[in-house]
Amino acid sequence: MKNLKVFKFGGSSVRDAANVKNVTSILQSFAGRPILIVVSAMGKTTNALEEVVGAHANKTGKAFDLLNAIRDQHYRIMAELFDPGDEVYAAVNDQFVAVEWVLEEEPHENYDYMYDQIVCVGELVSSTIVAAYLNKIGLPTSWLDARDVILTDEIYREGWVQWEETVERAKAKAQPLLEKGGFVLTQGFIGSTDSNETTTLGREGSDYTAAIFSFCLDAEDMTIWKDVPGVLTADPRLFDNIVKLDRLSYREAIEMTYYGAKVIHPKTIKPLQNKSIPLYVKSFIEPQGEGTLISSDVEDHYPPMVAVERNQALVYISTRDFSFVAEHHMSVLFNHIANLRLQVNMMQNTAISFAVCVNDIDDKVERFAQQIQGEFKVMIDRQLELITVRHAQPAVLENLRKGKILLMEERTKDTVQMVVKNVQVLDWKEVE
Ligand code: ASP
Ligand code: MG
Repeated sequence: MKNLKVFKFGGSSVRDAANVKNVTSILQSFAGRPILIVVSAMGKTTNALEEVVGAHANKTGKAFDLLNAIRDQHYRIMAELFDPGDEVYAAVNDQFVAVEWVLEEEPHENYDYMYDQIVCVGELVSSTIVAAYLNKIGLPTSWLDARDVILTDEIYREGWVQWEETVERAKAKAQPLLEKGGFVLTQGFIGSTDSNETTTLGREGSDYTAAIFSFCLDAEDMTIWKDVPGVLTADPRLFDNIVKLDRLSYREAIEMTYYGAKVIHPKTIKPLQNKSIPLYVKSFIEPQGEGTLISSDVEDHYPPMVAVERNQALVYISTRDFSFVAEHHMSVLFNHIANLRLQVNMMQNTAISFAVCVNDIDDKVERFAQQIQGEFKVMIDRQLELITVRHAQPAVLENLRKGKILLMEERTKDTVQMVVKNVQVLDWKEVE
């Protein structure tokens, strides 16, 4: 669609009434232009909803209280944005009631399914509130249910997008709303299966949602509005001497985000790259700033960039009979890895052993070990960090290694990756 812009506003940009107002004032300057807006759940709502899921699954008796606290929080925000009689209250209440119905039932045997049915409410209510506020201040906005557009498979908590149908549905559902004029506002993170069951796309998946819509509707560009001025060379909470990158290639962005640079969800880049849709990362605090432009243009010089991914597990696998870890074994191992959707970040093999570094999420690593234990000897080292450095300089690497035990390293032309364990430096008094 000509001139279409897609904007994504994450949880922290809509975490309270003041921030919702800030978002709407950014949008004010785009009034009258075709914009599709994707919003996340407000603040840390998704984490709070995960607690509800846990409480319901474990029958702690706390699920309703936890849900009510979330509802109250949203009501407090609405009270600052709307008059008491506004119809937004009823709409938001209905969405919470749908979750109550889930909580009144016995916990579903499929945890991931139940998770998606509960957690989706975060995005549903946040989008309802922001859309209502935009309309209230005179920016006509249509609310679109993302589940009517994004079709996924039936893997709950990590739905995979069915692209052909999703493109068709975006053209059928979203495009007419955009052509009508005004903004269209929808939810990040959620989709639905063929049989209309709600799915989610994986934590922090709202960026990806925006990229899906950008792809389907041939957006002119997409912008992710964040609380940082753009893409930085490293996480400012972990490192000093960071700089903002003005421009970045898709390739560079994928390499860094895949290995833990938290600034954008890793799945976001591919759909944009396929259609050469430029991606801007800008600050919602200083919306006039240049931000970072991610595009197909290749820069010839980059400063060193560092991404740190925590919660890594290193799984050491060897054959019980000293036979070689050869092709046959590899295919067995990778079958399990693929079925569990384990993200492999690094691997190394010798004649009789194979070591693989993966994201340690839920109980996936235990399940992997259980599945292969019959055939292999397995050792697991956990709570590790994966440090990825692009365009490294020796001094940078030396600094990064301080206070750490290096367990595995890999170097290619532009990238150095290290799996490390933090060394606990004990106070001499404790050692005594
Ligand atoms: N609300 C979801 C989460 O916190 C999705 C997102 O924010 O991108 O994971
Ligand atoms: Mg978020």
